[in-house]
Parts: sequence; structure tokens; C-alpha cells
Amino acid sequence: MKKDGKYLIVGQGLAGTLLGLTLDLAGVDFEIIDNPGLSACSRISAGVFNPVVFKRYTTSWRALEVFPHAFRFYRHIEKLLGIRIFYEIPLHKILSTHREQEQWKVAASMNLSGVLNPDLFEFPFGPEQKSTCFGEVLSTGRVDVAFLLRHCLEKWNEEGRVSVGTFDFEALKKEENGWSYKEKMFIGVLFCEGKEISRNPFFSWVKMKPARGEVLVIKSKALPDDRIFHSGISIIPSGSGQFLVGSTYGWDNLSDIPDPEKINWLKEELKKKIGNEFSVVEERAGVRPSVIDRRPVLGQHPVMAGLWVMNGMGTRGVILGPWLAEKLKGALLGGEKIEEEISVGRFFQPISQHR
Ligand SMILES: Cc1cc2nc3c(=O)[nH]c(=O)nc-3n(C[C@H](O)[C@H](O)[C@H](O)COP(=O)(O)OP(=O)(O)OC[C@H]3O[C@@H](n4cnc5c(N)ncnc54)[C@H](O)[C@@H]3O)c2cc1C
Repeated sequence: MKKDGKYLIVGQGLAGTLLGLTLDLAGVDFEIIDNPGLSACSRISAGVFNPVVFKRYTTSWRALEVFPHAFRFYRHIEKLLGIRIFYEIPLHKILSTHREQEQWKVAASMNLSGVLNPDLFEFPFGPEQKSTCFGEVLSTGRVDVAFLLRHCLEKWNEEGRVSVGTFDFEALKKEENGWSYKEKMFIGVLFCEGKEISRNPFFSWVKMKPARGEVLVIKSKALPDDRIFHSGISIIPSGSGQFLVGSTYGWDNLSDIPDPEKINWLKEELKKKIGNEFSVVEERAGVRPSVIDRRPVLGQHPVMAGLWVMNGMGTRGVILGPWLAEKLKGALLGGEKIEEEISVGRFFQPISQHR
């Protein structure tokens, strides 16, 4: 299955990092180029995984496949790299009304059995410490994405695999046995550019619908650090008395600069939950690489052999990433077919069809 030669990964966000780790595990050589100034999405991500879509009370897309794979992957990576990044933390959702509580119990005994704890809890919560009802989701937690990225960057830098800077498309040339980039030969180029894919001349036709999001980093003594709270916003323990509070959505202004209105909304929502017992450490924003049909984008360019893409992880990069990287590895090394639902080819129209 192993191929001789080296791949070039463009982008060291979560997608590029998980792909690099997956190739490394398979003994495949690669280099990686990244300009961290282009997108802050992975570095500011809350990193939460949760198999439930509360709006519809269903499991998220392909949860039964992607969750077990991601759990195995992150645990293995922790051991291999000797770092702690994978935290299983229960998620407690506030169930304020009798109707919400009944809905929870029905789902817990039917389609979400094994995912929702059927027993509800009650404990004092909020500024007035009112007795509040909570439901618990199982198999939830958080990956410390920023730390994983920093650690891999350091390791790969020491191994001489990293270039810092913007990928220069003009310098990429098709050769008989692959692609050359600045006097180096690669058997393939793997584009993991997040929202920046729109500037990629080979893949700009992928129909993205990027969504900006804001997150607060706060300090608070009013919150326990052993669970994630969810009720409109999520409050996620991130260690050392700090919590992440998120997230917002915006489709108009796609910059990494926090929008004061959205930040204010997060603060007001937080006040409803814990009063004034918090201080803001940092306000962050990033742009999620979401796709118009809300499915990831994976595979080889339909015409330009050797150019590949892993993108479109949207709001669920943490849990989808390891599974997508494994699928891409299967396609790269074993010629395995990428299913149509996630294949990049679904957006491609040959020029003759544009008329
Ligand atoms: C506020 C917020 C909260 C989130 N919370 C969660 C969460 O709780 N759970 C979850 O699973 N997901 C969450 N996400 C989504 C998650 O962060 C993304 O799915 C994931 O990080 C996307 O990773 P990526 O590598 O595809 O893109 P990116 O993180 O954007 O990485 C792309 C990288 O490529 C580099 N790059 C691009 N073009 C070039 C080029 N030409 N040359 C060199 N480098 C280039 C960029 O600088 C960047 O480093 C959140 C996102 C946001 C914004």
C-alpha cells in the first residue's frame, strides 16, 4: 500500500494536521506549508464533540462511524506523542420546561438511547442558584486543537518538514511523475486550506458557504470544571479556571476580527446563566469552512491527477477530521473510491457544461 515519494500538504489547520498525522502513522513522507496569518479557525476552535443535534433530536451525520474512529485516533495520538489533548467531559443541557424534559425522556428511550442519559438531574444553577433540571449527553468532550497544532508544528519543524509562508500557485508545475514546487518533487499536493480554498485556482469551484464564529475565553469561579453546559450557548472548561463560551454564526463579514455585537450577545447570554461572576480573558473569531450542502469535501481533482483536497469540515472538524483523513489515505495509497456524498467531484462541471 505504501508509495515511494513525498506529498506536500498545503495548510496546517486541523485538516492538514490530522492528515499529516495519519500519513505519518502509515509511514508516508510529507512536507507541509502554512501561513498561519490566513485563517485562525482551527486555532480558536472550541474543540467540542457531541453526537446530538438538539434542534432535531437526532444523531449528527454519520455519528456511528465517525465517533468510534475519532476516539481511537485521538487516544492513539496522545500515547504516540506523549501529550494530553482528548478530554471526555459530560455535556449537561438545561431543560427548563416540562415539555423539554418529556422530549428528552422520549428520545433517550428511542432513537437516542445509549446517547442520552435517560435520568435527569436537578441542582442549583444560575445567578439566583435556582433548582434547575439538566439532561446529560454521553460521548461528549473536547479536543485541545490549538495545543495539538502547536505540538505538531514544533515536531515537524524539528524534522525539517515545515515551510512557513503562502503557497505560490505559480511555482507549482505538472511533471511526468508528479508535481514540482520550488525545485522539489512531490507525488501529490494535498490542499487543506479551509476557507482559503476560494483562492485556489484548481478548486475555487467548490461551493463553500463559510460561517464566521466568535468565542469568548473567560475566567470564573462560579462554574464547575467537570462538565460542559449547553443552553443556547456552550460553556466549556479549558483548564486553569478558564472556560470557552461559544459560539456565534455570521455569513456576511468573513474576517477573523470579532464582531462587537456578537461578542456582546455572548456576554449577555452568559450573564443570564451565571450573572456577573466572570471576567473576559480574550475575544476570538474565525471562519468555519462550511459547504453549501453541509458535507465535507474530499478527494482528487477530477481532471488534474495528483491534486487532492480535504476541506468542508464546517462546525464539526474535531470529530469528522480523523475519519476523513483515513478515507483520503485509503484513496491516496490504495486507490479506494471516495463516496459521492463527500467527493469533491460532486461540484465539478467540465467547461463544456458551463455554457
Ligand atoms: C468560533 C468557532 C468555534 C468552533 N467550535 C468547534 C467545535 O466546538 N467543535 C468542532 O468540531 N469544530 C468547531 N469549529 C470548526 C473547526 O474549527 C473547523 O471545522 C476546523 O478547524 C477547520 O479546519 P481546517 O484545517 O479545514 O481549516 P483552517 O483552520 O482554516 O486551516 C487552514 C490552514 O491553511 C492555511 N492556508 C490556507 N491557504 C493557504 C495558502 N495558500 N498557503 C499557506 N497556508 C494556507 C491557513 O492559514 C490555515 O492555517 C469551530 C469554528 C469556529 C470558527
